[in-house]
Amino acid sequence: MKPFVFATHNAHKLDEVQEILGNQIPLLSLQNIDCKEDIPETADTLEGNALLKARYVYENYGYNCFADDTGLEIAALNNAPGVYSARYAGDSKDPKANRDKVLKDLEGADDYSARFRTVIALIIDGKEHLFEGIIQGTIIREERGTAGFGYDPIFVPEGYDQTFAELGADIKNTISHRAKAIQQLKQFLYEKNY
Ligand code: IMP
Repeated sequence: MKPFVFATHNAHKLDEVQEILGNQIPLLSLQNIDCKEDIPETADTLEGNALLKARYVYENYGYNCFADDTGLEIAALNNAPGVYSARYAGDSKDPKANRDKVLKDLEGADDYSARFRTVIALIIDGKEHLFEGIIQGTIIREERGTAGFGYDPIFVPEGYDQTFAELGADIKNTISHRAKAIQQLKQFLYEKNY
């Protein structure tokens, strides 16, 4: 198995992804390849941003690589915040302000349904592949739970009555958008014998 770079500066994400992929697919971090740059995420879709990040590493460092991008897509808000999820309430990327803005924007809406969507872009020997993971759910009107991050305290996944922030990492990491996308990636790598 050739080593892959996972294009993230987030050590927590790298551990989570390595755990799902298993040790037979060893990952290198951006730190391992001495990439300190903030890779630009200027596309207006999740697919576009994931590809930008993976191409950046492949073209500048020569490693096979994958990158992810995730967004919360709310039906009543025409799939906003979507690709702008991190900075929905402004450039400070404040998660609490982002959640407050979502709840304010949804005031008076009939439909609180939403989904998280993760896209992974993989580049192997110059060939690009995309994978997707989706979890459907509902936004609730008040925050519940303390685990997780981002929009977790206001998102209840379908089939559960607790938020991601109440369910905690063990359950979340088996059902989440990111876990599903990584499983797709894992299956592809095994099938292709990488
Ligand atoms: P990223 O592409 O993983 O960096 O995610 C972009 C933004 O989406 C984050 O800053 C969060 O606001 C939100 N987000 C991504 N994944 C999750 C999640 O699992 N739970 C809650 N919010 C998330």
